[in-house]
Amino acid sequence: MPDQKNILVVSAHAADFVWRAGGAIALYAQRGYRVRILCLSYGERGESQGSWKQPGMTIDRVKEIRQTESTRAAGILGADVSFFDCGDYPIVITQAVIDEMVKEYRELQPEFVLTHPYLDPYNPDHPTANQVTLQTRVYAQALGYPAPGKPLEAPPVFMFEPHQPEQCEFKPEVLLDITPVWDMKQKAMESMEAQGHLWKYYTDLGSRRGTQAVRNGGHKSIKYAEAFQRVYPQVTDQLT
Ligand SMILES: [Zn+2]
Repeated sequence: MPDQKNILVVSAHAADFVWRAGGAIALYAQRGYRVRILCLSYGERGESQGSWKQPGMTIDRVKEIRQTESTRAAGILGADVSFFDCGDYPIVITQAVIDEMVKEYRELQPEFVLTHPYLDPYNPDHPTANQVTLQTRVYAQALGYPAPGKPLEAPPVFMFEPHQPEQCEFKPEVLLDITPVWDMKQKAMESMEAQGHLWKYYTDLGSRRGTQAVRNGGHKSIKYAEAFQRVYPQVTDQLT
């Protein structure tokens, strides 16, 4: 579709996008945007505790479980998802992955990009995802980078909220009202059965950010919100 508007989400592991940006994804999917999620890894070693507690588990089986859960969650949110299977602990970024991401940028020409913050002392894979997202955005802008499609313009990049924001030096700069799609986010979270211990945490966080959104001038009807931090300055001709 020539008028189709796209959003790009880069998630280190199979579930990160659900907890941290599920509301933004559902909101934009509902508005008619194509939301494309790239999962660099299944999080098979580091973020699949529930699966590993099952007897006789293997790495391939964990990947399969996580892919199924993640695909189901993306479907609930109205997005499509691809898995790069880069491994985790560590995520290994090869030249082929870089080329593939540049291709994605050029094909999608996203309106904006969502990914992890710069720092996360609890999980080094998250900064890796941030770094490759920012790197390949720059490469996709370069006329000389050998990839199909026209060079990328300058889509804003928003970093979504990490699990322990203070330690990651994350400061909310944008509070997005996700109240209208909260049910979808909740369903998507509940489809991530390997990490059931996180459901309540992210429900509480959504509610807390919602309260803060109202306190910061948002409409009183806001019940749930997600926090983001910008990488690049906002360009505007108005300060209201
Ligand atoms: Zn993760």
